[in-house]
Amino acid sequence: MNVIKSKKIWLSSPHMGGKELTYVQEAFNTNWIAPLGPNVDGFEQDIKNYLSNDIYVAALSSGTAALHLGLQLLGVERDDEVLCQSMTFAASANPIVYLGAKPIFIDSESQTWNICPEQLEIAIKDRIAKGKKPKAIITVHLYGMPYNVDAIHKIARAYEIPVLEDSAESLGSSYHNIKCGTFGDLAILSFNGNKIITTSGGGALITKSKKDKEKAIFLATQARDNAPHYEHTEIGNNYRMSNVIAGIGRGQMEVLDKHITYRRTNFNFYKQQLGDHPELEFQEEPNGYYSNRWLSCIKTRSYQLREEIRLALANENIESRPLWKPMHLQPVFAECEAYINGISGDLFDGGLCLPSGSNLEEDDLLRIVTIIKNILG
Ligand SMILES: *Cc1c(COP(=O)(O)O)cnc(C)c1O
Repeated sequence: MNVIKSKKIWLSSPHMGGKELTYVQEAFNTNWIAPLGPNVDGFEQDIKNYLSNDIYVAALSSGTAALHLGLQLLGVERDDEVLCQSMTFAASANPIVYLGAKPIFIDSESQTWNICPEQLEIAIKDRIAKGKKPKAIITVHLYGMPYNVDAIHKIARAYEIPVLEDSAESLGSSYHNIKCGTFGDLAILSFNGNKIITTSGGGALITKSKKDKEKAIFLATQARDNAPHYEHTEIGNNYRMSNVIAGIGRGQMEVLDKHITYRRTNFNFYKQQLGDHPELEFQEEPNGYYSNRWLSCIKTRSYQLREEIRLALANENIESRPLWKPMHLQPVFAECEAYINGISGDLFDGGLCLPSGSNLEEDDLLRIVTIIKNILG
């Protein structure tokens, strides 16, 4: 006997706009099946047009690769210390370890759920007092919500520490009308399968100078010196984006703003339907903050309630996911130092990401809130 299961609802699934295959077909027609070509140039130009005229974009194989290259460009080396927002995906922190440097984690503030200015300054002072000035700060705009850009960059400037801005989740978000991805000395984007736009896998490094972009591409293409034979004076990586998948990116850039509108509509629906429950908190936009609402998240009052909701949704074939588990609580980073106020730990205990795809239907959203309302009573 067949049991009819309700339609699967994903947390965040790829959503093609229509033109992607045209660009990919172009790559095939012209035999540009290489990690360079017109789609790579076109995609980089599209991102630049979208973000700011004052930046340069290097399309890469992943956001993680972009972070790794970014740290290399900032001169991070063995035994250096790098401050990193604790509340994030492990990809923000892993590249620090690739370079033999030490991550030091900074807790969140309750308003944006991102890196806490107070803890950041305490950490910088303490590291300097202990004899080592941090080499860089990695900041993250979690789930699309900008961090407190003014406060964080004021501290970074005061102590002259460069910022590597992890904008993997925040393409299209802005802070006082300036786009995320343009605040750091360097910034990164991700085009992984579940991000707001996708190339199936991919990323980008954003630089403030042409020289940094050229250096990034040099390091991303095996650090080959200018010679007729293969000559190397530096260690390189193989991190460039392919011209085939850059075609997907060009198609996706055409629908980015539409995707953001859909994602913001999801958030507003959840907020309108569930917003007056004293049990729940939402990631609200402070004045001047604009989130792409990559993922709509709720914070419940307890781990038990979060799990009850997650399991009830799973039972109905609906995917939801706990918020990122902070890096200072991860077994792999257990030995790392951290400056902690407890906020990210609480967020992890009670927080849940709800289905947020730009391709959700109103019926899907209704199914989700009905289940949650049943639990909250
Ligand atoms: C997705 C993500 C990354 C990594 O990007 P990939 O393209 O998957 O390598 C880095 N940081 C954050 C915050 C992310 O969400």
